[in-house]
Parts: sequence; C-alpha cells; structure tokens
Amino acid sequence: ERAELEALLDAPAMTLDGIHVRLEANIELPEEAELALKAGADGIGLFRSEFLFMGRADLPSEQEQYEAYSRVVKAMKGKVVTIRTLDIGADKTLDGDATVATNPALGLRAIRYCLDKPEMFATQLRALLRASQYGQIRILIPMISSMNEVHASRQAIESAARELEKSGTPFARNYLLGAMVEVPAIAIAIEPFVQELDFLSIGTNDLIQYVLAVDRGDAEVASLYDPMHPAVLRLIAHTINAADRAGKPVAICGEMAGDASVTRMLLGLGLKEFSMHPQQLLDVKKEVRLSHSNALRVKVASALNRAERIDLATLAA
Ligand code: PEP
Ligand code: MG
Repeated sequence: ERAELEALLDAPAMTLDGIHVRLEANIELPEEAELALKAGADGIGLFRSEFLFMGRADLPSEQEQYEAYSRVVKAMKGKVVTIRTLDIGADKTLDGDATVATNPALGLRAIRYCLDKPEMFATQLRALLRASQYGQIRILIPMISSMNEVHASRQAIESAARELEKSGTPFARNYLLGAMVEVPAIAIAIEPFVQELDFLSIGTNDLIQYVLAVDRGDAEVASLYDPMHPAVLRLIAHTINAADRAGKPVAICGEMAGDASVTRMLLGLGLKEFSMHPQQLLDVKKEVRLSHSNALRVKVASALNRAERIDLATLAA
C-alpha cells in the first residue's frame, strides 16, 4: 500500500471534477521542512514557532530565530511558508514561567501573551521580517478574538520593520498577514476579519474545544470532543464561505485536515487548502483524487442546512 501511495507523489491533488486543492505541511522544527518537501507539500501551512521557545531556560535570540525561519524559507525553495507567531499558554508552557492561570485555555495565551510582552514579540517579528527576504512568508497570528488584536499585531509588525530600517538591517516587507480562526467569536463574526487580513487558517483543534466547551487534552471528556458536531461544521462552512466571497485563501491546519476519513466532508464544505503532518499528505491526496467535489458540496450543504449530523458513509464513493 505504501508503494501505491508513493506513486501519488507527483500526481496533482485534483478532484475528479477538476478542483485543485493545496496540500501543505504542519511542522514544529525547522529541519522538518525537508520532510515536507519530500512528502510533496505545496508549502508550509503551519510552522508552530513555539517549539523554538519550549524546553529551555532562556528565550531564543533574534539571530537564532532568524536562522531558524530562514532555514525553513530557503528549504521550501520559493513555496509559501506560513509561520505562526508564538502560541504559548494553555497546553504549551515556557520553562520557568511560574504563572498559573485559573483557566489556562481562557487565559493569557498566544497573541494575548505576545501583546503583553512587546519586547519578546518585537524580537520574533524582526526575525520573521529578516527571513522574508528569502521567500514568501505568511505571518499567522494565533487565538485572535478581536479586531483590536489584529490592529495591534499589524502595528507591532510595522514598528519592527521601522526598527530594522533604522539599524540598516536587511529585511523584506512582502509578508502576508493572517489569523487563526480558533476562537468561536471570530468565526461567527468573520466578515470584517476577512476584509482586514490576507488569509485565514482554521484551527479546528482549539475551535472544537471552545465551541463545545470540552478541554482538548482532558481524557475524561474525550468522548465529547466531536469534530463532526453540526455547530463546529457550520462555523467552518461559514468561515470558508466568507473567505471565498472575498477571494481570500482559507486553510484548515487542525488535526481534521490530515484525517483522510473526513477529507470528503471537508471538500464538501468547500475547503481547498489543507495543512497537516507531512506523513498524512499522500493519504489525503488519494481521497481528493477519488472525490467529486460538486457532488459532495450538494450533500454536505443539505445536511448542514438541517443542522444534522453528517453520516460519513453517505459521502463515500
Ligand atoms: C489548532 O488549534 O487547530 C491548531 C492547529 O493549533 P494548535 O494545535 O497548535 O493549538
Ligand atoms: Mg490552536
């Protein structure tokens, strides 16, 4: 079966009715970029930068981050590289950070944490702008829940650019700015965010947790953590439709995107950009190539309208 999948490496990720799908890789370490390329990824859809910050006593310097981001950008040879700014807090903590939030998933995490520590954020942003000389970088902001955070992020990036300019450090301003859609509030009221940003990436891991009020890491409630809940699927559909109307790209980078058993369902929701672990890429591509996108869209839309659970068996070939 491995050989059958490997034969798909150079085959296009295209449905039977001719819809092209982008299949990208999620990585956590710079050296995984090579793995992504080998798996035939169209780009990096999510580089979780927090792994440069975890399991150590100090913070990575601007130079260290610049080297890590540049390495990924160069390795991808002109393909788009989406780098997520530090997503710390909740299930990912920094060593030596003694803060214990009462409710970490709802606390000072991700962009909230970064805006609270402007010098640390500025260091990362300068490193990103310097690395963007070598290719196309998309800066992805995690846990956005308000337009204020979008504006504050953009201002922080522009002020990092001015600092680099002042010191005569080479960098590029060609970055694209996007947000993770993982807080229900922005999925519900998505339109202004679509207008303001260059791209979106739906973080279903957290979106499911927050929509269903089920801790994503708590084994006691794991059976309630339901990616197929109609409320979750409606929010995903709503986000994809808004992005489509505005002509902006939208991906899913949560675990769902790499689960070949739901590929047809996601195609039915209109998804055209999937980001996943590199090892899952060929399985998903195989499903895409066996799918008829328009037929799936009709089936999924009618189930969603009735707010019914979608029976995956009804979507099979
Ligand atoms: C997500 O929330 O779906 C996501 C991709 O990010 P993480 O799993 O790192 O929170
Ligand atoms: Mg997340």
